[in-house]
Amino acid sequence: MTIIENIIDYLKPSNRIGKKQYSILFPLLLTTTCAIFLELDYRFIIHMPELVRAPAVIILLGLIIYFSLRDGIRGGITSTIITILYYCYISISQFSTENNLIADAERTLSFAIIYLFLATSIGGLKQKIDILIEKEENEKNKLQTIIQQMPAGVLVIEKNGKVTHANKQLEVISGYRIPVGTILEKDRTLLPETYNVKPSRSPLTQVLKGKALMKREYQIKRKDGKDRYIQISASPVWGHNHKISAATAVITDITQQKEQEQRRDDFINIASHELRTPITSMKLYVNSLSSRISEYNNVEINQIIESVKYQTEKLQDLVDDLLDVSRIRTGKMTFRKEVFLLNGLLEETVNSLHAIIKHHKIIFSNDQSLMVLADKFRLNQVIINLITNASKYSPAGTNIIINTKLLNGNAIVSVKDSGMGISKEQQKKIFNRLYQVSDTKIRTFPGLGIGLYISKQIISRHRGRIWVESEKGKGSTFYFSLPLYKKS
Ligand code: ADP
Repeated sequence: MTIIENIIDYLKPSNRIGKKQYSILFPLLLTTTCAIFLELDYRFIIHMPELVRAPAVIILLGLIIYFSLRDGIRGGITSTIITILYYCYISISQFSTENNLIADAERTLSFAIIYLFLATSIGGLKQKIDILIEKEENEKNKLQTIIQQMPAGVLVIEKNGKVTHANKQLEVISGYRIPVGTILEKDRTLLPETYNVKPSRSPLTQVLKGKALMKREYQIKRKDGKDRYIQISASPVWGHNHKISAATAVITDITQQKEQEQRRDDFINIASHELRTPITSMKLYVNSLSSRISEYNNVEINQIIESVKYQTEKLQDLVDDLLDVSRIRTGKMTFRKEVFLLNGLLEETVNSLHAIIKHHKIIFSNDQSLMVLADKFRLNQVIINLITNASKYSPAGTNIIINTKLLNGNAIVSVKDSGMGISKEQQKKIFNRLYQVSDTKIRTFPGLGIGLYISKQIISRHRGRIWVESEKGKGSTFYFSLPLYKKS
């Protein structure tokens, strides 16, 4: 910057907006210099000191306004005092009659009042603006500090893709530094070259179209080449006229969590495969033992053998469920679909369960013919899971009611119990893997919390839906829907 530019910068009132720097010395010096210059000019160069009054009003008034804008009330008043003192000097140095002096004094007083009013109102306004701007700056700084300190990555961009906030954690997660002011192309991914999703499905593109994202997971490649998993929650910022003005995104690194899940999946996979062989052998031995011992007709031993058989079956079911979870996670669950009557399957399943579920009455009236194309074995698994859950989570002696109905080309099956019910909060989670409702007041039930997860996967692979309607303490009704079979 040249000296001239520096001087202009120093003189510009706009450069001081928002800064509470109110100089007294500068208005004092400049106004005094100006008055002396005017006086000397008219007295010794123009030789007509009586003409100095008009320029003294115009120029010094200009200075008062200027200093009120630049230095607030202090600057305006300093300039006013010097001006009024100079006006007094003019009156005294040029007076002729006493009358003239009094008239001059009255005029100077009027000027003083007007100038003071101008200096305080313009200067006051300038100071108010400074306070407002300072307040806004403080809020901005506070927000900026919070954003910087957040343990999650934060990115805020304007509608045109210009980055307005990008914190340190974002850099830690992705390895890329995104300076404020960078323009991210709208149709590109959230961080250029970082997120391996199709541009049209990139989080930013979706958010700038008005769609909010909740905990969406993406796989990314860090700058150092490492694969990371991230979770993004993002939403548009609506400005005036209901138009999107910006987009905000909060990004968390979930790689550790994903790796833990992977380890858990691997463990379930290995454990269930390893357990299968000994359980199958156990079942064979128990069966052969049971047939040999039955010859002796010993009731007590028979009972023991039967309970070992029952427990082995349960163990087998558990391991089968774990294997299914593994198959779902690795995309290896296969389906052998055939056309059959859903009600027929329900009837068969209910009849087989009558022998096992002894403390509840299962009510099913087979009065509809609903033809579906599905995997009978897998569907049977879902129905058994829903009915056994209904018996597990409702008091003995209550009814379990099974119904079917046809709705908009879908077969809908419901399993209703009068049990403990499920709160609204828990209803969203029970179809998740390994989720069991925990309630300190109610005793816990045996199970792994995977039955409903498997059921949901099976039903959705049949293009159906599974859901629950329930109220805590008043029982639950589980539903699943399947598209009816249509001959093509
Ligand atoms: P599990 O029964 O082995 O724990 P599920 O996946 O079948 O696993 O069920 C998940 C959770 O949903 C259960 O732990 C239970 O808390 C809740 N739940 C399922 N069915 C019912 C029901 N009919 N009534 C009340 N709670 C239920």
